[in-house]
Amino acid sequence: MNGNEKGRAWIELNTRHLHHNAKQLQKLLPDRCSLMPAVKADAYGHGAVPVAEELQKLGIRNYCVASAPEGAELRQAGIRGQILILGYTDPADFDLLREFNLTQTIVDENYGKALGSYGRKLPVHVGIDTGMHRLGVPFSHTDSIKTMWDYKNLRITGLYSHLCTSDGLTSEDRSYVRLQEKRFQDTVKMLRAEGRNGFSTHLQGSYGILNGDVLTGSYDLARVGIALYGVLSEPSEELEQRYDLKPVLSLKARIACVRELEAGEGAGYGLAWHTDSRRKIAAVTLGYADGYPRTLSNRGHALVRGIRVPVVGRVCMDQLLLDVTQVPDVRSGDEAVFIGRSKKLCIRAEDVAAEAGTISNEILSALGKRLRRMAV
Ligand SMILES: *Cc1c(COP(=O)(O)O)cnc(C)c1O
Repeated sequence: MNGNEKGRAWIELNTRHLHHNAKQLQKLLPDRCSLMPAVKADAYGHGAVPVAEELQKLGIRNYCVASAPEGAELRQAGIRGQILILGYTDPADFDLLREFNLTQTIVDENYGKALGSYGRKLPVHVGIDTGMHRLGVPFSHTDSIKTMWDYKNLRITGLYSHLCTSDGLTSEDRSYVRLQEKRFQDTVKMLRAEGRNGFSTHLQGSYGILNGDVLTGSYDLARVGIALYGVLSEPSEELEQRYDLKPVLSLKARIACVRELEAGEGAGYGLAWHTDSRRKIAAVTLGYADGYPRTLSNRGHALVRGIRVPVVGRVCMDQLLLDVTQVPDVRSGDEAVFIGRSKKLCIRAEDVAAEAGTISNEILSALGKRLRRMAV
């Protein structure tokens, strides 16, 4: 029993916008560089399977995910091509790598050894730590890096690193990007000089493309996440004007009921909101269990019948309240838009993130399993 897809709270995916963004991003890259979309965290809340299915139609053949189960989910849905796991896979789960033909990142020297002694052939990408200090073999450990080619069971199909200040515009941020790129390029050169070839290289995420003017090299793949979904991590007028990206996701819910309150009444848990005059409020079928942040209690906004209205009171697990006094004819069954358009107005994921004090990546990737996802 699945019920009406738009019965409670749901996500609409604009697949035309997804195609548009993929093409725009590809245009910013050299021809030899292919997109390797990050479809981790359920494609940033958009739904990994529907998103990857759309990307297959565009001829995209490389994907990255965070974990082996995320990769397995894509394979079970029939997604072909290379699926790279960016994060750690526990050795107890190495069988999943084999079973679903997933490419594992080597997260450090010891991990390379563990993968190499698994006993079966595995495709891997070697991660290089060029200064973020999260995952990867440190760039200065050149002997350890070379050792990875000695494990006969490892088929090394890629070498990559990750930039940690590419979203920043200060001169410190930009010179750190240059430093990381130089370390990465030196590593690539060192390996090629030793006759180790046949691996693809990748360095950029979304901001490595959008702020890509600092980079000097070109790579085979680009691990693009947030920008592919038509969203920036934080609002930036400059980037919005420079690039034509269109948001793929809308978040909507139903108004369950509308009621009138007298001046001086409280509403919701803890009576955390009070009326100062007669108000009309609506209970809406969206809550923090759906990923709508509880920090937006008395702070967030929605669009109802093309009018911007505030979230009032505390966001509950499954519901929240809106002050809809300004909305003529509002009634039970109306749509409330939390991300997306309603008539002339729009709330972007960036706006929700700014109100919640975080980045859009967190807002989108937290959108819950309970939301129905549908292409429009
Ligand atoms: C998530 C992730 C990406 C994608 O990042 P965006 O900024 O969303 O484009 C790229 N590379 C790695 C290693 C990641 O973890």
